[in-house]
Amino acid sequence: MAPTASAVIVALKRRVEGRVAPRRAMSIRIGLAMLQGARHEHAQAIVGAAEELGVDAEIKVLRTSGDLDGGIDALILPGGESTTMRIASRHQGLLESLYEWMNDDPQRPVLGTCAGAILMCSPPSGPPLLDAEINRNAWGRQAKSFQAPVAVFLDVEVVPPAVITSVSTDNAHHPLVVSSDGLGDGETFPGVFIRAPRFSSIGTEATVVAEFEGEVVGILQGGRLALTFHPELTSDRRFHRWIISQAAIRAAG
Ligand code: GLN
Repeated sequence: MAPTASAVIVALKRRVEGRVAPRRAMSIRIGLAMLQGARHEHAQAIVGAAEELGVDAEIKVLRTSGDLDGGIDALILPGGESTTMRIASRHQGLLESLYEWMNDDPQRPVLGTCAGAILMCSPPSGPPLLDAEINRNAWGRQAKSFQAPVAVFLDVEVVPPAVITSVSTDNAHHPLVVSSDGLGDGETFPGVFIRAPRFSSIGTEATVVAEFEGEVVGILQGGRLALTFHPELTSDRRFHRWIISQAAIRAAG
């Protein structure tokens, strides 16, 4: 039977605490789609989450379809502008290859955030990767972007205090100044919603894993996790620990 995420995390933590020597051979390769948008923040979050877990995680930046050749254990589809992403990737065939990779096995771990969630729910062609429908920009324009506590129902440990300490403002897509006021009490997740989409329907195949004021803002189906907010813009790396541990479970066989 496959180990649970908690069991893997406990095992990984033991290694951090020095009780068991790290198995350097178990390096996890996380593919990061460099389509457009919040990519570097995801890379930082992966590095931080891997440190928290005591895991060797290598970030494989994916710019062209050929970049998938060496293989990856998990994939991150960042937020940004889904239309720009579709256009930007057209000549390099990256998006098509990513869809192929995801369609090969629905258990492959994928984290799609915001525009990444849109790409999973509404592929330009072929069947949706998730049993859900999503509406772009459904909270309104940029001025309607907001931050708010999100309830999370996912098998991943909370490492308190889950306080936002840093947010990149070097990108025009991330103008919010995030403070920790009222957020990150260790139970809820500090959700940053930027021109976010909204799920308009959730099918029976998908499991709800995140809610904001009773509205679904995160779903899981097989290994695919789609969030309408930006977890990479906070220092709570719960979702990045989740994807690393999912990849570790699969790599451990
Ligand atoms: N509004 C964007 C889109 O429709 C998504 C915004 C985001 O990823 N922050 O693609």
